[in-house]
Formats: sequence, C-alpha cells, structure tokens
Amino acid sequence: MEDVIVVGAGPAGNNAALTLASKGYGVTVIDSRENIGDKLCTGLVGEECFRRYPIDPSLVYREINSASIVAPSSEGVRFETPRPVARVVNRVAYVASFAERAKEAGAQYLLGPRVSQVEQQKDRVSVVTNDGTLEARALVLAAGFGSQLNRQLGLGEASDYVVGVQALVETEGLDEVEVYVGRNVAPGFFAWLVPTQPGYALAGLLVRKDAPERFAQFISARKAEGKIKGSVSKATCWGIPLRPLRKTYSDRVLVVGDAAGQVKPTTGGGIFYSLMASEFASKALDEALQEDRLSANRLSSYQREWKGLLSKELEVGYSARRLFEYLGDSHISSLIQQASKNGFVAELANSPEVSFDWHSSMIGKIMGHPTLGGVLKMVNPFLARMAKVPEPADMYPSEEVMAESMSRV
Ligand SMILES: Cc1cc2nc3c(=O)[nH]c(=O)nc-3n(C[C@H](O)[C@H](O)[C@H](O)COP(=O)(O)OP(=O)(O)OC[C@H]3O[C@@H](n4cnc5c(N)ncnc54)[C@H](O)[C@@H]3O)c2cc1C
Repeated sequence: MEDVIVVGAGPAGNNAALTLASKGYGVTVIDSRENIGDKLCTGLVGEECFRRYPIDPSLVYREINSASIVAPSSEGVRFETPRPVARVVNRVAYVASFAERAKEAGAQYLLGPRVSQVEQQKDRVSVVTNDGTLEARALVLAAGFGSQLNRQLGLGEASDYVVGVQALVETEGLDEVEVYVGRNVAPGFFAWLVPTQPGYALAGLLVRKDAPERFAQFISARKAEGKIKGSVSKATCWGIPLRPLRKTYSDRVLVVGDAAGQVKPTTGGGIFYSLMASEFASKALDEALQEDRLSANRLSSYQREWKGLLSKELEVGYSARRLFEYLGDSHISSLIQQASKNGFVAELANSPEVSFDWHSSMIGKIMGHPTLGGVLKMVNPFLARMAKVPEPADMYPSEEVMAESMSRV
C-alpha cells in the first residue's frame, strides 16, 4: 500500500507528488493522459509564479510587458508595464518538468489508466482504474475540471464554470497579446491572441454559450483582418471552474487545483493557484500521515490554509466577473475610453497593486476611480439581483463530446 495516490498529473497533482515524495512518502500518480501536461491551456504564467516555480529559460516563448485590449467599438487601449508581468511558456514542458522532479524524488507514474472509482475505507482509500485497483493511506484528487470523482466522494462540483476554446494559429505581424471584449466576440468574457514562437499564436476565447460557433467567427474576423494566416492545430475546448467547491477535504482525501475550483474567476488562469494549493495539501497530508490521523476533521486545516490565501481573490474576482458579464458594449467602450483618458491606464500599469495573479487590489482601484467606478456602480444594483443565478454554461460532459462539437463548425 502506498502512502499517497495522486489522481491527475497536471500542475496541482505533479507539485503535490513532488512535495510529498521529497519528504520521503511513497507516492503514485495516475493520469489517463499519456503525455503529461498536454491539456488545453495558453501557458501564461505570472512573474510571481515564475519566480516561485522557475522553469528552464528554454521553455519560455516570450515575456509579456504589453497588451492591447480591443473594444467593441474597435477602439482599444494599450497597456505597457516597465517590467514583464508574465511569460508565455511551453505549457506541456513546464508541467512535465514538475513530474520529472517528482520522479527523481521517487514518485511512480502510471500513465494511461483512467480512475473510475474511489472508495474511502476506515484505514485506506482504494482507487479503481481500468487496469486494476490500487490502495493508499491517502488520496490527492487533482483530476481537473469536471471530474466525476468529486461527485462520487460527495464533494459536489463547481457551481459555475465557463467553456474555453483554443487553437494554434499562424499569424502575420502579431507581436503582443491582444484581448478582445464585447458581446459580438465573447459575451461577458473575452477572446485572445497570444503570440508564442515567431509567426505563431494561440487564439482562444471563453464563453458560456455556443463556444464552437463563437470561436469560428472570431477566427474568420481575424483572418479577414490579415492577422491570422491559417490554423495549425484543430480547436479544442474544455471547461474552467469559476467558483471553488464548498468542501475540498474528506476522510483521507484532499481535492486540489481545477478539481477544487482554485482558479482566478476574472481570467480563468489556474496554474499558479493550483501550485500553491498543492503545497498546502502536501503540508496538511504530511502532518496527518505522521500522526496517522487522516479523518476529514484532521485534514480540514488544508481548506483553512488555502482559503486564507485565496478566498478574498476568488470572491472579489467572481463579483467583478459577474459585474463584467452585465456590462453592455456601450459600457465597455465607455470604460475603455475613460480609462485611456487622464493617464489612468499608465497609472494602473505602473501601480505596485497591479499584478498578473492577484486581482482584488486592482479591482478595488478601478471601483474607486471617480469615473470608472461611477460607470460600474450604475450597473451594480442590477448585478445584485442577477448575480445569484448565473446563466448556466453549455455542458460538455467529456472531451469526446467537446471535440465532436468543435468538429461541427
Ligand atoms: C483554454 C484554456 C486556457 C487556459 N490558459 C491558462 C493560462 O494561460 N494560464 C493559467 O494559469 N491557466 C490557464 N488555464 C487554466 C489551467 O489550464 C488550469 O487551471 C490548470 O491546468 C489546472 O491544473 P490541474 O492540475 O488542477 O488540472 P489539469 O491540468 O486539468 O490536470 C488534470 C489531470 O487529471 C487527469 N485526469 C482527469 N480525470 C482523470 C481520471 N478519472 N483518471 C486519471 N486521470 C484523470 C487529466 O488527464 C489531466 O492530466 C486555461 C484553461 C483553458 C481551458
């Protein structure tokens, strides 16, 4: 019997495996995906994440210190920061680098088997795969968005989520990140062109409804502008949780990363939060394994710790996200116009409160701005009434169904 089984070899699972194996625990990681880290993602990593969890410089495609936001009226605003705020990395290689170090520390990897069932027993957890059953003293569930295993364990599922679509495209003259907002492009959310290697970019969007159709329109419009020359990879889509699970621990089990909803609700970025949360999970498990007390009660310290760090960000970010969803195109254009005036964009870009990964201070700054805050407060009462019932996103129950929907457009 292992000490810990980790389900999922994404950032959350690999980092938990690395931390626990480095402490001398016997760890087995199971992932149905054979190519570690090869999951839909843009690979934008903030500077703080990069400093804390460094990667080989050869895996960095480019540093980001500017971006243009394209408004519905086609007017836009350009941000430029004195120093890079983020990097675009080779996501597969970045995530795999955690797994490599976990293996060096002694973790075993089983790639291919899909976990279909988790059973909690008094003295162990059993993990059933299509290749047999494994047992361990504890389990880290890091199976990403939409895992059926959360539900099986009685931990529920993300109460709100969005669908992301992305493809690699060939580009012409695109040198910086472009973010597109507006009801015609991605209602309530945004679309992006993120340049990777010279001549290539990741094109994508987040949306609650009609993701494949919206994406096809976005690509056609950029092709018509001459920005995109052609598609290199097929578009794929996947869900992103916008709210955390209420409970992320159970007897002998901790839930981490997208499976727990530890994602920035503003942008859908989850790599950094997953990595940090996996350290809290490893710490709680280390203490509990040493004492051999692995009850839900004993493991609840994990939730206290990650919430202590992330709760405010998730709450403020979600409120801002919901507010943004209720802005009409005229509001968005007016906000962008106002922000461009009087040097507010430059002030924001240079402010120490503005960070790629921590958005609550920036949201506070925007809400406190006399004109921008004024525009937003006009929408607030409406939000207060509507926020309780988010429009449900289209449900794609599996990667196969998502791929099938994408192939239709
Ligand atoms: C379009 C898009 C773009 C994104 N861009 C960014 C970005 O630029 N920056 C950023 O920070 N975040 C981004 N994200 C979010 C980011 O990818 C996730 O937050 C992050 O991958 C979460 O890591 P994780 O380890 O929790 O889960 P995942 O990376 O999803 O890993 C979960 C793993 O579990 C495995 N698994 C699932 N179920 C089972 C099972 N039953 N049995 C065995 N294995 C299983 C899967 O194969 C997968 O490898 C993006 C997401 C999307 C959809």
